[in-house]
Amino acid sequence: MSHHVVVVGAGPGGLTAAVLLAKAGVRVTVLERLPQLGGRTSTFRQEGFTFDHGPTFFHYPQVLEKILRSAGYDLWRELDLIRLDPHYRLVFGSGGEISATSNLRRMQSEVARLNAGDAQHVSDFLLDNRRKLDCFRPFLESPFHNWRDAARLNVLGLLPTLKPWRSLDSELSRYFRDPRVRLAFSFQSKYLGMSPYECPSLFTILSFLEYEYGIYHPRGGCGSITGMLGRVARQLGAEIRLNEPVTEILFENRKAVGVRTTAGTYKADAIVLNADFARAMTRLVPDRLRRRWNDRGLARSSMSCSAFMMYLGLRGRYDSLTHHTIYISKNYARNMREIGRSHTLSDDPSYYVQNACVTDASLAPAGKSTLYVLVPVTHQNSRVDWQRERPRYRELVLDKLAEIGAPDIRSRIEYERIVTPSDWDVDFELYKGAVFGLSHTWSQMLHLRPRNRFNEVDSMYLVGSSTHPGSGLPVIFESARISSRLVLEDLGLPVVWNDQAPQAALAGAAL
Ligand SMILES: Cc1cc2nc3c(=O)[nH]c(=O)nc-3n(C[C@H](O)[C@H](O)[C@H](O)COP(=O)(O)OP(=O)(O)OC[C@H]3O[C@@H](n4cnc5c(N)ncnc54)[C@H](O)[C@@H]3O)c2cc1C
Repeated sequence: MSHHVVVVGAGPGGLTAAVLLAKAGVRVTVLERLPQLGGRTSTFRQEGFTFDHGPTFFHYPQVLEKILRSAGYDLWRELDLIRLDPHYRLVFGSGGEISATSNLRRMQSEVARLNAGDAQHVSDFLLDNRRKLDCFRPFLESPFHNWRDAARLNVLGLLPTLKPWRSLDSELSRYFRDPRVRLAFSFQSKYLGMSPYECPSLFTILSFLEYEYGIYHPRGGCGSITGMLGRVARQLGAEIRLNEPVTEILFENRKAVGVRTTAGTYKADAIVLNADFARAMTRLVPDRLRRRWNDRGLARSSMSCSAFMMYLGLRGRYDSLTHHTIYISKNYARNMREIGRSHTLSDDPSYYVQNACVTDASLAPAGKSTLYVLVPVTHQNSRVDWQRERPRYRELVLDKLAEIGAPDIRSRIEYERIVTPSDWDVDFELYKGAVFGLSHTWSQMLHLRPRNRFNEVDSMYLVGSSTHPGSGLPVIFESARISSRLVLEDLGLPVVWNDQAPQAALAGAAL
């Protein structure tokens, strides 16, 4: 065990890297500033209620399944994963609703409730996207060190499939005439913190992944995923130190050689950075060492949205409210402009509600339940003062919950916690409170995204939302696999795990 790797941050990206590197025989130390592991993918418990801080949708588990298998573990034994059907209920402010499901026949009749003509194009959409994902999969699984990598994988040859000139919404208009149906297959761009009117058309694969591989709820919440990764990493020999913020990365010339924390210093042969990229750069890496991603470059970069959160512990349970419900603003385009362009607050915001106790009673005491409400809002900027807006937005959101079937909510609240963009910024150390990190514009993707083998300094590797392949749990796990492989290659160590494409996943079509 001669090589030592320090992982900064115990989020899903950092913990997955710890698992893979420890499995390869490297000495791994994970340093986490908070008292619990998991980062945004963690749970908290208050007054008997359990909530996820961030992720509640677990998609495409095949990526993590493959990673764990290569480390000698079986995902399906380590976690109790409940496949949801329907995936979620979508309620349109402009009228109508849909219950999304992987069952093709049922999905077609759901779409027909909105628009009979569009229903017949659902299967075309799925077929085309199955092909598209197959074409794009090598890009998701490979590092991008420079434009030559894009050329090697023949990005140009894929342009007719990827259509970078089209937005998600315009691509979907090839299949669906009804704007509500298009939204049912494109609101998922919010998982990247982006608007479907601006998000590249490539990301039709996001909704496709839901239909192809399903949506899961891990019993106990998504925090049980990172809890499990922490357990596995420790069993494989990694040391995880909580409550120990890294205050400085130590350099010799341009080479990262260790870190300083509130408790001491650690020498390292390589640093894996999982802390939010933009925040960590501005705090831990001197500006003079950075070129593209210097402080000015970061200030100009395109950041994803933030989120206004309400975590409610309730008396009783709304049994008729599905596990996941998404309300789509009556004027979604305006709502998206308010979030991404004018940076103001909507009076009719879209929002998402998780009523997890209808599936998982372990999250609340008997006779009670939890409700998690997420309202996508602008990232931090001078136009919104959350100190002032917080109480007003609370009332607005509670009023709106009646629209989706949660009336009389105020009289049921026993526990309440609100998290605003300013809390994401300060408490979770997220640059501008942007909960999904850097946006996925073409100018911030592939080799133009902060690279897995970070090219601004030596011996530093990135994992997590703001590096390649991007935000969202499956791709964050993938980032850890790509970066861990690079670490081993650069340290001259063999890659002991088989990290070929997950063939099992390819065969897992649910439709
Ligand atoms: C509200 C919300 C909802 C989301 N919903 C979903 C969803 O349903 N499905 C999905 O797939 N994705 C979702 N995401 C996106 C994404 O999957 C998660 O945010 C994920 O946790 C990001 O993982 P990460 O590894 O990049 O970073 P993080 O989870 O943020 O982990 C980074 C870690 O680094 C630590 N750290 C930071 N600075 C330091 C330092 N100086 N020293 C030591 N440690 C440090 C942090 O405390 C943190 O633990 C959601 C995100 C949010 C915020």
